[in-house]
Amino acid sequence: MNRAVKAPKGKIILGLALIIVLSMFFSLYQPLINLFKDKTSPVSETLALKSINNTIEKGETLSTIFTKYGLRMEELFAMKSAAASIHPLRQLHPGKSYSIVFDEQNCINSFTYGIDDDTILKIERVDDCFQAHKYNIPYETRILTINGSINDNLIAAVGTEKEDYLLALQVADILAWDIDFTTDLRTGDSFRIIAEGLYLDGEFKKYGKILSVEFINNNQPYTAYFFEHDGKFDYYDAAGNSLRKAFLKAPLSFRRISSYFSKKRFHPVLKIYRPHHGIDYAAATGTPVSAVGDGKITFAGRKGAYGNLIIITHNNGYKTYYGHLSRFRKGIRQGIRVKQGDLIGYVGATGLATGPHLHYEMRRSDTPINPSSVKNIAGKPIPSSQKAEFKRMTLALNTIFTAAVFFDTKDTERKKYSLHPSLIAEANSLPQTKKQGG
Ligand SMILES: [Zn+2]
Repeated sequence: MNRAVKAPKGKIILGLALIIVLSMFFSLYQPLINLFKDKTSPVSETLALKSINNTIEKGETLSTIFTKYGLRMEELFAMKSAAASIHPLRQLHPGKSYSIVFDEQNCINSFTYGIDDDTILKIERVDDCFQAHKYNIPYETRILTINGSINDNLIAAVGTEKEDYLLALQVADILAWDIDFTTDLRTGDSFRIIAEGLYLDGEFKKYGKILSVEFINNNQPYTAYFFEHDGKFDYYDAAGNSLRKAFLKAPLSFRRISSYFSKKRFHPVLKIYRPHHGIDYAAATGTPVSAVGDGKITFAGRKGAYGNLIIITHNNGYKTYYGHLSRFRKGIRQGIRVKQGDLIGYVGATGLATGPHLHYEMRRSDTPINPSSVKNIAGKPIPSSQKAEFKRMTLALNTIFTAAVFFDTKDTERKKYSLHPSLIAEANSLPQTKKQGG
């Protein structure tokens, strides 16, 4: 019986590995194919139609663009009224791309504008009027395999571009219950990420979701798998347990801190001390402090050596203390409920403190405890009806971890190499081991 079950599994893995190898060869050839494509020039002529492809410059409006290319103002007015209820044309932003197609009499055929990373505005001539529509940008999804290691901080390790920064924040969010990315990282920690890359005309535009991340922190591996069911998505460990837990690893959220500090001086937490029954995070005055779990604020005010203190009472008799705050977030007071991750106040040096730091303490039945010793209750696991599908998904992702080439974050060419998304899609349609009637 065992043999009969095992044989097809082996074939599936071999099949997936083959697909991976083939897809990788295909992506190697992709840059070559692109070389033969025409580069779009600012003004190009095709039969009777001409087109302008450009980006909005600082201080430019559609009127100045129309004047520059000798286009008619009355057409601009007609376009403006057509677009008024869809996307007002006065809201054009520098750096966004646009294209104008017109005929030899300079009559506008169409105008296209990239509103944001996901949406295009298109105004087209239909008979003698203009019609405006919004479209979703038809990205092509590919799968990227990335690896890196920590020298300094997570952001520096993932890359220098804006999209890399957003990917680093995604990683920190996914593992926020297990790793404190401001103080837990060690030189030599490493990670591998399987993420969607969204491409347009063969060019990388941005990352989609992270499908899986494996992070080795202080020799301890953590692996997260993306899974969507019943219209919701979440990240799970290999056994299908949710990575969400009752308490975040730290009260200083990596995402919140990194948006508060500029990337240039990214050392928001200077040091962490454990001199007594709490944890002290030495951080600049004003560093945002978050609630580690859902609960009710049972104290918000001045209290002796603690200075400005917030106490949150959670379920099961747990309490968390946040001391020496410079100030509370607006609206924070005794009796209100807060959610995990909510901003509650700002680091300061009130009370008995030699320098700005957050005093963080967790108590159970009013006895101080070590937060890392708390049995942190996890969120809902994968429902049993979805277990088989989850298993197929993790099998496909693990095959990628085992067989695919991962590209280092320092490799500037890495976004040219990708795997075909069918690898994941096909994993979802692999035959089930048990077939139910109907
Ligand atoms: Zn302290």
